[in-house]
Amino acid sequence: MPTTTLAEAQKRVTSLRQQLDEWAQAYYSQDQPLVEDAVYDRAYQELLQLEREFPALVTPDSITQRVGGQINNEFAKVQHPIPMLSMGDVFSKQELLDFDQRLQKQLGHPVAYNVELKIDGLSLSLEYEEGRLVRASTRGNGQVGEDVTANARSIADIPQTVAGNFTGEVRGECYMGKDAFAKLNAARDAAGQSIFANPRNAAAGSLRQLDPSITKKRHLSTFIYTWVNPPANITSQHQAIAEMAKLGFHTNQTGQRLASMADIYQYIDEYTQKRNSLTYGIDGIVLKVDDLALQQELGNTVKVPRWEIAYKFPPQEEATVVHEIVWTVGRTGVVTPTAVMDPVQLAGTTVSRAVLHNPDLLKEKDVRIGDTVLLHKAGDIIPEISQVVLSKRPQDSVPYQIPTKCPSCGKPLTHLADEVALRCLNPMCPAQVEERITHFASRSAMNIMGLGPKIVRQLIQQDLVTDVADLYQLTAADLQKLPHFQDKSINNLLTAIENSKQNSVELLLFGLGIDHVGARAARLIAEKFQTMDRIQAASAAEIDAIPTIGETIANSLTAYFQQDSAQVLLAQLKAAGLNMRFLGQTPAAAPANLFKDKRVVLTGKLAHFTRSEFTAKLQALGAKVTGSVSKKTDYVIYGTDPGSKYDKAQALGVKLLTEAEALQELEKKDQD
Ligand code: NAD
Repeated sequence: MPTTTLAEAQKRVTSLRQQLDEWAQAYYSQDQPLVEDAVYDRAYQELLQLEREFPALVTPDSITQRVGGQINNEFAKVQHPIPMLSMGDVFSKQELLDFDQRLQKQLGHPVAYNVELKIDGLSLSLEYEEGRLVRASTRGNGQVGEDVTANARSIADIPQTVAGNFTGEVRGECYMGKDAFAKLNAARDAAGQSIFANPRNAAAGSLRQLDPSITKKRHLSTFIYTWVNPPANITSQHQAIAEMAKLGFHTNQTGQRLASMADIYQYIDEYTQKRNSLTYGIDGIVLKVDDLALQQELGNTVKVPRWEIAYKFPPQEEATVVHEIVWTVGRTGVVTPTAVMDPVQLAGTTVSRAVLHNPDLLKEKDVRIGDTVLLHKAGDIIPEISQVVLSKRPQDSVPYQIPTKCPSCGKPLTHLADEVALRCLNPMCPAQVEERITHFASRSAMNIMGLGPKIVRQLIQQDLVTDVADLYQLTAADLQKLPHFQDKSINNLLTAIENSKQNSVELLLFGLGIDHVGARAARLIAEKFQTMDRIQAASAAEIDAIPTIGETIANSLTAYFQQDSAQVLLAQLKAAGLNMRFLGQTPAAAPANLFKDKRVVLTGKLAHFTRSEFTAKLQALGAKVTGSVSKKTDYVIYGTDPGSKYDKAQALGVKLLTEAEALQELEKKDQD
């Protein structure tokens, strides 16, 4: 029975539609959702329920009657003769049972399902003619999608040619793996850019790019799960997936043909457990009637197929209390707030910190000391505060005051135009100096083994270094001042610093830590100009002319070299005897898999994975992960607050890698 009057329902329906349209616009067009999926889903379900109670209120333009996506007019349009639909969803096992019973009643017999993981990405259609990929398109509004063929050609696992002169269309999910997502967001965050809320939005934002070279850099992947109009000998979804795999499409191998609800529940429980350890995000489980003839018989509504349903996982959220908001200063001076909370178990790891990214976000969420907050993990990895539980806010709570002075050097903080970030502009700020020197010494830059954050901090505390040029003036007598730094470590460090003088110039250029200039850009620039003198003299237009290098990098580089301090630093480095030429060697000349047959020890708090997840990843590459450091240890990978294992590695001269450096290696391997 209706619980409200028609007039009340009409009012609520109008307001829900307006709200959902606004959220959908931000989600589908800007790939930047305004609210959590669970919030959207709750409002959507309420609208659906009201439309069921009051069918007279259903209008064709209601979000429940159309596929939600939108088309960016900058892309060519592609008609989908067979519409690309959305999917019905349920949020409990009971509703799944109701779905199955409805189908059984309609068909008059039990049904077997192909049960698949619901990949957290966006749908992609691929069309082939005589074995060649001719078109790739997004779902768009279901009838018309966006032509993303050039972008799809840059995705490594999409076959450009398919054996047997394949002509036809397949569809699947384009997604961004968790590692690529974490890396992309870390890079965007470091550059003061907005971060993606989840891998789905990151994948959509990366596929729907006008410049395919950007898509290529984002390391997207696909799982293909639909064969549109398959040949007659293919009669089931399960078989279709197996055959598409044989043709060379990347398919997900976890799907199972299941005929009983008990087995389906077991599958759901299994993947609810395994979800955090998968290398890609999933947001639920999909049940598809396996028999393709039955699918035809059941047909579609205007928006969803009647033969499939998604079971959506409940949001993984935990409540905890914020004790402190700490501000850290990055190497480019960006000051980032992090909430420190009571530790809670969340999606497989203990979490006590969540980055709040920038003051605007902090203000928008209105997080205050003493607040109870709900925590979740974006993309199953990065802890994030979803919202404050206002009902639990202490009576005496006051709005959090954004600092006006740098937490490290005390100089005023500045908001640069066009930036959400807050910056410390003092180049001598100790926190920035520490970050800059650590970056300079890191493996992908000057590769000075043994010069991790802890030693850098000690060098700064002892007034031995204030910039990277000072590293080249260090003597054994200086290093003896560092606590617990033995002769062997001193020798190793001095040798590593000396050896770094021979590096090819792109490593130095990257090591300078210039805004937006990553390792790849540094190499391309060094390759083009060959010497540091020519790089320093290059105009923004000349740099911009390098394919795949954009205006932002070009402007940032020229602005950097225009500073007197940069000129002085370069002159000092030259005088210290650093190589200033491009030597043509690849920084990645290291073995393809650094960890194969190596003994590795983990220490400190890891930000991106649990110890066991990281161990499993290393073992998959052939590493032997052990618990204690000895002379035989090849690498010690350390997170924040590393313990005595770090010190021991240092003393024994064992190679130290930061978590980020190790992840870079793992990612390199993923791309092989
Ligand atoms: P959906 O993403 O919930 O489900 C349909 C899609 O699932 C398909 O189009 C396909 O791309 C994908 N999929 C993944 N794995 C699949 C598999 N194995 N087989 C078949 N399809 C598979 O539906 P939708 O219409 O794309 O989006 C609606 C959802 O998007 C909402 O439920 C909500 O969670 C989210 N959304 C969120 C906001 C927000 O503001 N947070 C706004 C709009 C939509």
